[in-house]
Amino acid sequence: MRPSSRLALHGGVPRIRKKFRRYNSLGPEELRAATQVIRSGILSQFLGTWDPDFYGGPRVREFEKACCRFFRVNHAVTVNSWTSGLTAAIGAIGIEPGDEVIVPTWTMCASATAVLHWWGIPVFADIDPLTFCMDPRSVEKNLTPRTRAILAVDIFGQSCDLDALRKIANKKGLRIVGDTAQAPGTWNCGRVTGTLADIGGYSLNYHKHIHTGEGGILVTNDANLAERAQLIRNHAEAVVGGKGVKNLVNMVGHNFRLGEIEAAMGTTQLKKLPRLVRNRQRAAERLTRALQGLPGLRLPYVRAGCTHAYYMYPMVLDPQALGVDRAWIIKALRAEGVPDLSPGYANVHCLPIYQKKIAFGSRGFPWSLPGARGGVRYGPKTCPVAEDLHDRTFMAIHFCAFEMSDAEIDLLAAAFHKVWNHLPRA
Ligand SMILES: *Cc1c(COP(=O)(O)O)cnc(C)c1O
Repeated sequence: MRPSSRLALHGGVPRIRKKFRRYNSLGPEELRAATQVIRSGILSQFLGTWDPDFYGGPRVREFEKACCRFFRVNHAVTVNSWTSGLTAAIGAIGIEPGDEVIVPTWTMCASATAVLHWWGIPVFADIDPLTFCMDPRSVEKNLTPRTRAILAVDIFGQSCDLDALRKIANKKGLRIVGDTAQAPGTWNCGRVTGTLADIGGYSLNYHKHIHTGEGGILVTNDANLAERAQLIRNHAEAVVGGKGVKNLVNMVGHNFRLGEIEAAMGTTQLKKLPRLVRNRQRAAERLTRALQGLPGLRLPYVRAGCTHAYYMYPMVLDPQALGVDRAWIIKALRAEGVPDLSPGYANVHCLPIYQKKIAFGSRGFPWSLPGARGGVRYGPKTCPVAEDLHDRTFMAIHFCAFEMSDAEIDLLAAAFHKVWNHLPRA
């Protein structure tokens, strides 16, 4: 056997012997935008009192206007991270201590801690095995008299089933907060992903499709929620008096303000988003075509009417059909040079903070609050679909981390084919 045809795992030559270029969405436009802000001498212009500058400086306001146009919403509120954005959103909808918010277990941990930060209680829903987004049937199963909201996450790059979630929310009088950090610039039946929730938004951290280093964008069509998010962003307690705000629920402010340099770069990044998402779709679709038909490998599923931004390129293995387990496949693919391949994703419901119910202080706060429903269960066996995928069958390439040419996608596909040609036959 020629060394090139032997698996790298067994001492052969890796199919991929180059490093892929890191994804970089920044260019001369951002350099120019940032330089102009520095020349202006104004890196931030927020005032934490009731004043015109309560809304921030010129670049922040311009970026928010651009976001309204781009995402087709009435209100955009920028923040210094999407973790801040989620926290402001949960505060804005008026979550009270002990209230429950249903969160999918496959998400970034901040979707759930945003609830904790207002002493709300995250309750985790299982995921749909095809889309990996929250399963509306599991949401229904987890409804209790204390449920106040659903946190809908558009995981890996496509919209979750917002229509099904909206039906549940309407029936039960619940709010929906959206988390579209991984799917900006995508569509759900002609509607902009991320704008179907009552309030939702996008991340601008450095490993998302567009970024400003750190940052986030809240979007909503509800003027009241936008105002409350602006207040939480910027020292609410010092502003409500002057602004004449009557509803003081959760008007405990933070400093979640975005800087002028970030805002200026955000405006230029936003213009690039459609092209960047199209590039990623082209790359993912090319990979899917090349991998189609490999036995025991399920490729990304795109819901009818939706587009996918491929933040991740998710796959599911069938170890029975393959005759090997996931660990063997991952080892073999990594040895061939497949980059940033991860087994499983995140089972947030299994994090120690939830299993041990220790968040604030040592006495089980907020689960031990008087008026909170006891008996919320976390940990193994509470989200069986997510657990089986995470433990046994799911793998993903962090697709948003790289810039890949057609030739490089073909190389990636060749590495898969090589491994599949060497499966130890049963
Ligand atoms: C990245 C991410 C966040 C957090 O965004 P930051 O801007 O890093 O705070 C939240 N939710 C999801 C699903 C994410 O992917």
